[in-house]
Amino acid sequence: MTALHPARTRVAPSPTGDPHVGTAFMALFDKAWAARTGGAFVLRIEDTDQNRLVAGSEQQIHESLAWLGLAPDEGPGIGGEHGPYRQSERLETYRPFVEQLIADGHAYHCWCSSERLGQLRKEQETNKSAKTGYDRLCLGKTREERAQLPGFSETPVVRMLVPDDAPLMFTDVIRGEVKAPFPDDQVILKADGFPTYHLAVVVDDHLMGITTVVRGEEWISSTPKHLLLYRWLGFPEPQYAHMPLLRNPDRSKISKRRNPAARLLWFREQGYLPEAVRNFLQLLGYPPAEDGVEVATFEEFVAGFSWDKVATTGPIFDVKKLDWLNGHYIRSLDAAELTDRIVAFHTERGEWDGSIDRDVLHQAVPLVSERMVLLGDALPKLQFLFTDGVEVADDARASLPDNAAEVLDAGIAVLETVPFDAESIQAGLRAKLVDDMGIKPKFAFGPLRVGLTGAKVSPPLFESMEILGRDMTLARLKALRATL
Ligand code: GLU
Repeated sequence: MTALHPARTRVAPSPTGDPHVGTAFMALFDKAWAARTGGAFVLRIEDTDQNRLVAGSEQQIHESLAWLGLAPDEGPGIGGEHGPYRQSERLETYRPFVEQLIADGHAYHCWCSSERLGQLRKEQETNKSAKTGYDRLCLGKTREERAQLPGFSETPVVRMLVPDDAPLMFTDVIRGEVKAPFPDDQVILKADGFPTYHLAVVVDDHLMGITTVVRGEEWISSTPKHLLLYRWLGFPEPQYAHMPLLRNPDRSKISKRRNPAARLLWFREQGYLPEAVRNFLQLLGYPPAEDGVEVATFEEFVAGFSWDKVATTGPIFDVKKLDWLNGHYIRSLDAAELTDRIVAFHTERGEWDGSIDRDVLHQAVPLVSERMVLLGDALPKLQFLFTDGVEVADDARASLPDNAAEVLDAGIAVLETVPFDAESIQAGLRAKLVDDMGIKPKFAFGPLRVGLTGAKVSPPLFESMEILGRDMTLARLKALRATL
């Protein structure tokens, strides 16, 4: 195989709220391609829309990418040779390119007020005009000439002069030959002096040496504008990889408004492990490394990575698959590591307090890990280990057999003397209750479980007794006995 040229990729989110899961999806493929080719993965913050900025959003982007193991090699606060990596800090960079485009006749000033543009759009809609978009009223006019006409605004924008032969076809590494619609005379510099996305993305991708532009398929229709800018500015074109849009199980586009899982922070809040989320994203629109083997490390994903394996139809965002993966990764952690993750999870939620003994949790976590889906599933199942006594639930009390008092008395007698490890406890109780007294295991151990945990269903009984210790175990059984 020929050596791959080191790729430079980037993810370019706008800090307009808490990060979208799509940002992580793009970042995963960006990072994989950079890793596959020995290149670099860049984070660029696209904050040119000053009205939509949300404080803290950039920080959340950094944190959530790092959490997933997808931290960039270059970016704001990280450094790199192509900074600054925030577009708001690059305003002076864009200006000469705008001037060059105007001087070369590829761009022009437009003083049309937003009222005029709104009216124009409405007229085009009512008349069902074949020609839509800007009508070039300002093209070729000086400021003075334009000021004589209605709908004039003092501060102009700059628009692209899109020629009739604008390139509409391009090659996409996922989709092959793609045809996009003919573009409008796109604004590239806004009245506030900030560039629009279209200009900034081309200038920055070029100056940052980006070789492969990985982004959502919603940007396909913008690509002809970008190709024109590349051509006019004399920049070599990058490779394009337009990723499929993630979809809800009903095939609608995944959005933060309709699906909580569209928020990247949601996964951490819910108690998913980052390795499970990363593995889940690897399977969206991308085949498993081997048929039927869905669990794969990032390194395994990278080793076989190829753009032509990416699906072009929107992958379904199926949280059930994620739940399964999360359970798998939970069970692959050792008890100490799983305990740390559970403690961190509850600490982040402000739910960790002195009532929970970490060592007890560490001992008990293997009893419940088999049935855990989320990190938050352990504590509720183990709550009875962290309280002085237990309150017996109504259904648990109702489940007690008629001879519960007799069972408890015999059980208590055994537990007073038996060595207090799970195995001896089980052997001792079984010998007395099941073998000697002839009680069916269900009725022999049921009352003990209710006394110990307050519930009909609990983690394994004998191990729970061992963890609670002899004194506490006896105290609980006696407490229940006293109520019968
Ligand atoms: N700022 C754009 C976004 O958030 C980036 C698109 C691109 O990657 O070119 O979708």
